[in-house]
Amino acid sequence: MPFINILDKKVYNRIAAGEVVERPFSVVKELVENSLDAGATKIEVDVYNGGKDLIQVKDNGCGIEKSEMKKAFMPHATSKIKEAEDLENISTLGFRGEAIPSIAAVSNMILTSKAKGAADGYSVKAREGEVSDPEIFASDEGTCVSVESLFYNTPARAKFLKPEKTEEADIQNIMTRLILAKPEVAFTLNIDGKTVLQSFGGGLSENAIEIYGYETVKNCISVDTVKNGMRIFGLIGKADYTKPNRTYQTVILNGRYVVNNTVQTAIHNAYAPFLMKRRYPFYVLFIEVDPEFVDVNVHPNKTDVRFVDNQVVYGTIYSVINKYLNDISEPPTVEKFADKNISSGLSFGEKDGEKQNGGFGNDKKERDPASGTSRRYDYADLAEKARGITLSDVKKSSEKSGFSLFGEGSDSVFVLNSDDDEREKNDKEIEDVFAENKKYIEELERKKAAEEEAKKAKQEEMKVNGGYRIVGQVLTTYIILERDGDIYLIDQHAAHERLLFNRFMKDFKEGGVAKQSTLIPFDLRVNETEARFLNTKIQTLEKMGFEIEQDDDNLYKVYSIPYLFENFDVKEFFDDVLSDLGLKKLDVPDAIYDRLAQKACKAAIKSGKILSEGEIESLLKDINYDLSLKCPHGRPISVKITRTEIDKWFKRIV
Ligand code: ADP
Ligand code: MG
Repeated sequence: MPFINILDKKVYNRIAAGEVVERPFSVVKELVENSLDAGATKIEVDVYNGGKDLIQVKDNGCGIEKSEMKKAFMPHATSKIKEAEDLENISTLGFRGEAIPSIAAVSNMILTSKAKGAADGYSVKAREGEVSDPEIFASDEGTCVSVESLFYNTPARAKFLKPEKTEEADIQNIMTRLILAKPEVAFTLNIDGKTVLQSFGGGLSENAIEIYGYETVKNCISVDTVKNGMRIFGLIGKADYTKPNRTYQTVILNGRYVVNNTVQTAIHNAYAPFLMKRRYPFYVLFIEVDPEFVDVNVHPNKTDVRFVDNQVVYGTIYSVINKYLNDISEPPTVEKFADKNISSGLSFGEKDGEKQNGGFGNDKKERDPASGTSRRYDYADLAEKARGITLSDVKKSSEKSGFSLFGEGSDSVFVLNSDDDEREKNDKEIEDVFAENKKYIEELERKKAAEEEAKKAKQEEMKVNGGYRIVGQVLTTYIILERDGDIYLIDQHAAHERLLFNRFMKDFKEGGVAKQSTLIPFDLRVNETEARFLNTKIQTLEKMGFEIEQDDDNLYKVYSIPYLFENFDVKEFFDDVLSDLGLKKLDVPDAIYDRLAQKACKAAIKSGKILSEGEIESLLKDINYDLSLKCPHGRPISVKITRTEIDKWFKRIV
């Protein structure tokens, strides 16, 4: 029978180091977070050789008293929490008391600190798990932590380090996020002695310009809304300003940079109707929520978080972002086209300029675009249905903290996800996201339908095509309209394509899709997670026209497919559905979206077709004169030329 060993602290610190300190950038993150928790307003980070030789973080925070310095190196030693209950109300970035001992276990560390108001500064050295006694050391108030020779005693881990440039890039990346998260703190990052990032604590817009440049910030909307007990604010890129990857997306929850599926999916889905494929929105979004309703103790690196109620978080973020995007969605003006396509220093539109100046950081006015008590109750209802469980695990009254998710005075309760099983968690997350998506897309459609109805009625009233006058067709490609002194050019193909696409999509979603049998059943092999996912989607797939049955644990047979397309590639479809379970628009997978878009493109009238007045009228009527629409690939269907613009061409005005 084997003996059970109680591990020595040197050993378990090294094990813990594996979780907290994966790479040099995690060391930077932990140390900077400590400086922020110490109330620093100035933080300077120095990195040499990708962090492998030296990482040094110096701050002007509260410092550490001489008597506490050695304690900081003990496992689970923290000044930030005391009791288990404190875990439910964390307002600091750190709280696990793991970073200093873990980093010290895999490096040579020197900690120098002078506590605020203390006569002297002190320094301690940690080597091979042994910490020296504090020695007097001349220093400014604040703390400086130097981490030398990272992973020198864990060769296996050192081997996994990336090339210097990659480590540097990751350090720069995490520093960017920290700078964005703390706009009031001045940061400097020096790599091999050269300053590569610097901020001056001048607020979010200034920092964003510092990091991403004026061009980016100019293309953002400043948002600030309080809804359902959450404050959502920051900068979000306009729908037509996109980036090729997700590095330009930052979510800061209660001051902490986080990567969270529910939040990302909500934002992603709010942008989805406006985006071209494989383009990603830009955002620096701050979310503030009562700490009681979010668990930050999910992973040692504290990057992911778990919400007490995913539905509410998803719904609130989705609707807020969606509302902002819809509010500013209008045909791009010629000016903006020029501004975007030729970086010729053309001046930015006056109107937008004004908006911009008044916007960033100081637009604190509360906006509550789509709230309503009845809707709040919907969330609770939905949460219960989607989970199929009763609200029992942990009950908390919303009144207790004044965090009013479901309206004042209600005795609503919340479920705290106490299940630690990763698999079930994933399952549930997928389920949650699916239910949320479905509900919000449905709701969006209902809203759109209601809006369209209202628009139609208004048109009826005006009896003049929404105020537009049809001028005619030019270049056998574009329709010209005039309204309120502005001219609109509409791409006839794009407009018709959008119209057909919407119709196809409606048919598809409403399940009005016929089936066609496959000649021989298609064998779909899946892994365990995919099988669990598929099992929850069988009915949805059936509605879409798929007949699919589980043959054994890892094999499904597909007997029929939707009678919607020729040459339907079953494999591609399922690859797509199963490729990115987290972020999928589950009701319309990309493969279907693409096929519908293709079909619409093929069937739509082409450039070169002469349109009669009647045809133009009926096309415009069918799209409800909604010129802000985009074609399924995200291109605008129309462009606006303002009177001012034309007057400028003729030098009537300057
Ligand atoms: P945690 O941050 O979870 O408390 P750490 O291991 O990162 O754990 O740090 C241990 C303790 O050391 C902190 O709780 C804090 O009291 C002290 N400490 C670490 N870094 C600093 C710093 N830069 N300024 C002041 N105190 C610090
Ligand atoms: Mg810490």
